[in-house]
Amino acid sequence: MNAQQSDNTGHNAQQLRVGHGYDLHRLEPRSPAGDGRAFLLGGVELEHDLGPVGHSDADALYHAVTDALLGALGMEDIGQLFPDDSPENESRDSVEFLKEAVRRAGEDGWGVVNMDCTVILERPRIGPMKMRMRENIARAVGIDVEHVNVKGKSHEQVDAVGEGRAVEVHVVALLGRAGG
Ligand SMILES: [Zn+2]
Repeated sequence: MNAQQSDNTGHNAQQLRVGHGYDLHRLEPRSPAGDGRAFLLGGVELEHDLGPVGHSDADALYHAVTDALLGALGMEDIGQLFPDDSPENESRDSVEFLKEAVRRAGEDGWGVVNMDCTVILERPRIGPMKMRMRENIARAVGIDVEHVNVKGKSHEQVDAVGEGRAVEVHVVALLGRAGG
């Protein structure tokens, strides 16, 4: 198909882009017993005796969403844009990384159509917090909450994630050009 032709959904193939984001953070006892931070996912704090280790606020959901957007744009990833050895990024609220990715997308004429996020975590179950995570992401991106999905999965007690030693997030995001 010629890229200028519309497909049978009416979208021009050049007006859509998909991006994938992935993140994993090790979980440790909270400071001062370990290096774990408050356990944030999509700006929502989870109750847990452990917390993610990271240079910023270690919010794996915001990080994966940010990387999905940057990936769709074909830009440098979050680690290149916001180095983890930079003092200005230490303990930084990760929603700022996401807002910067949204700003860059908008600058190039792209907006987020929808995204689907999968959080893999043994405990706690994120069910009761999912709507707040969706609302926080939707607000930062500037889209309707209906266009942001978050689901939780267990890793069935297998490997580091399943043993509760890490949190893992996958995100797929679709971007569209205005008028596409
Ligand atoms: Zn991260």
